[in-house]
Amino acid sequence: MRAVMAFSGGMDSTGLLMRLLADGFKVSCVTYNYGQRHIIEIDRAINNIKYLMNNGIEVEHKIVDISSAMSLFHSSLISGGEAIPEGHYEEKQMKSTVVPNRNAIFSSILYGYAISIAMREETEVKIALGVHSGDHMIYPDCRPEFYESLEKSFSLGNWESDNVTLYLPYIEKDKEFILRDALISCKKLGIDFDTVFANTNTSYNPDENGRSSGTSGADVERILAFHAIGRKDPVEYVKSWEEVLAGAIKTQLKYYVMKENGTERPFTGEYDKHFKDGIYYCAECGKNLFTSESKFDSGCGWPAFSEEMKDANIIQLEDRSHGMSRIEVRCSGCDSHLGHLFHELRGQRYCINSICLNFVGE
Ligand SMILES: [Zn+2]
Repeated sequence: MRAVMAFSGGMDSTGLLMRLLADGFKVSCVTYNYGQRHIIEIDRAINNIKYLMNNGIEVEHKIVDISSAMSLFHSSLISGGEAIPEGHYEEKQMKSTVVPNRNAIFSSILYGYAISIAMREETEVKIALGVHSGDHMIYPDCRPEFYESLEKSFSLGNWESDNVTLYLPYIEKDKEFILRDALISCKKLGIDFDTVFANTNTSYNPDENGRSSGTSGADVERILAFHAIGRKDPVEYVKSWEEVLAGAIKTQLKYYVMKENGTERPFTGEYDKHFKDGIYYCAECGKNLFTSESKFDSGCGWPAFSEEMKDANIIQLEDRSHGMSRIEVRCSGCDSHLGHLFHELRGQRYCINSICLNFVGE
């Protein structure tokens, strides 16, 4: 069984390599140098290949430099591009991290390589890629229909295509699944999971010592995946694991509440029992929303305000979800969900999620 794969040095392709080796494939890995800012991932990839070799596991590894071609492209991921955005993976600003046509270029080189191996070794070759469902939203070249179409085009354009197929075992899975799968693969191979994943990089903006910030969208997704499998990420962060984990959970909750109209659990928010003097701003765009003078203890478990600031212009919408008729309130600055407005006997109550607010004291 023969496979070629794009081995970036990130966690998805590393998990995939472990799976292929555990399944008994002879694997040829290609690591691309495309001028990525997080060039450290190439060193991590090399470290992992060395670690495997030291444990008697043979892997062919080639580093292919396409940085001069890719320097023509516009993306925040490429050296010289704009700053890397922070926040949730699915947010619109993460689109600046798209590298135009990247996976078509990577796959195209792999296809030529796979055909060459198929002819030389007279064998079937799988082109394995670690793309997963979390990538689909932001990266259109990670979608299943793109790969189906690509595979068809490649096979139409090559004589020897019968022996070459694409293999995308994680295309409908997520990062958590990849980590669980890697745990099983590492055990089968008799190698240490933490060493393998310490030799990866997911951060788009690691510091000069190679430590991850923990704040880019890809970081947040990775941190939450390790948390979901009940393990500490062995890779080094600029802050402690407890701090980066708390930050990632907060980023996820903020996205769920403000962008997906969710609600934080009652009595858990930072500002529920907070009564200092000052102003509450939108946590997303900084628009001024409420003053401490209008804040009161409603006993409901979320921050309550009797009125909004004069120029807050909070948007009111009818909300008939969950079998209730309520008034939803949204920020006029960024159209993010904030909470609800209730008209009660004691007067009006803006019931706002703490995660949507930033308090600045007087
Ligand atoms: Zn806002």
